Amino acid sequence: MSKFWSPIVHQLTPYVPGEQPKISNLIKLNTNENPYGPSPKVLNAIEIEAGNSLRLYSDPTSERLVNAIAQYYQLDAKQIFVGNGSDEVLAHTFQALFQHGKPLLFPDITYSFYPVYCKLYGVEAETIPLNTNFEVDLSDYIRPNSGIIFPNPNAPTGHGIGPGAIEMLLKKNLDSVVVVDEAYIDFGGESAVTLINEYPNLLVIQTFSKSRSLAGLRVGFAMGSEALIAGLIRVKDSFNSYPLDSIAISGAVAAIQDKVHFEYTRKRIITSREQLTVELEALGFNIIPSQANFLFVTHPQHDAADLAADLRVRNIIVRYFNKPRIDQYLRITIGTDDECAMLVSALQDIVKD
Ligand SMILES: *Cc1c(COP(=O)(O)O)cnc(C)c1O
Repeated sequence: MSKFWSPIVHQLTPYVPGEQPKISNLIKLNTNENPYGPSPKVLNAIEIEAGNSLRLYSDPTSERLVNAIAQYYQLDAKQIFVGNGSDEVLAHTFQALFQHGKPLLFPDITYSFYPVYCKLYGVEAETIPLNTNFEVDLSDYIRPNSGIIFPNPNAPTGHGIGPGAIEMLLKKNLDSVVVVDEAYIDFGGESAVTLINEYPNLLVIQTFSKSRSLAGLRVGFAMGSEALIAGLIRVKDSFNSYPLDSIAISGAVAAIQDKVHFEYTRKRIITSREQLTVELEALGFNIIPSQANFLFVTHPQHDAADLAADLRVRNIIVRYFNKPRIDQYLRITIGTDDECAMLVSALQDIVKD
């Protein structure tokens, strides 16, 4: 606390990211990073870019990346917005689209950055409880709002919903924007991107951090009607002209163009997830069926915080949220098959006594 702070700074509750440990011998299954590196073509593109152009400002419109994403999803460049990680894209979305004198609706159990942005931008929020199966039920969102946002698949549960349910919501919610945060969509969900040309009130947000293994490059994007994208661009150009550096633009273009590496790595993660689900169920865990690159698990006989601590002693970090409704769950990122095997063997050891 300081008297020099503007009043709003006293009111903030900043987001606390998962730990990025400084020691290297840990099995890191706590922040949903991809265990496989990015495409070698990304590294090559970054090297060339770094050799050429760092003296100059980066392209303020990130035109090459916008065009590459438009081509990938068969959209117009005017339907694409890019930012410094999808967190920045989300931040601009909260400021640009969600302040209309009614609450923004989002699930009670979801990405914990949403309430943080609400405080930062003075967006009124109303949380909608997950149903008893821990699922987002979009029929619960038919009520007055300034906007609706939810991840699909949801985090940290991993549960996904189909485009049919999303289309139903879009039809019944024509006067405000519905944002689908698709950070994990490539691990088995069905994207709402196909609905964009039909619904001007739909914004789909994705990231290069998870399925394209570029969390450290910080690139995210939004796709939606030209009007929504123009609103985001106005906010961006009132905040930072160059949110993406030259290296990020070049690396992300190479990533979205390498479909072979993308398909190979995401399929490996899906296969490992299905195998890990079976193995953890055999140890007595209850698991929410996941369409993401993580599992949300609970054990009827073992306290989740104790399990997280016991794993940590064995050099394995998973994510534990000390929050109502989910304080008996662990969120475990899908690692390589070797990492999954070490996790299973550690948990075997822990739950047997
Ligand atoms: C990881 C994640 C993000 C943020 O991704 P970045 O692009 O790395 O900022 C956004 N939403 C959800 C639900 C996430 O899990």
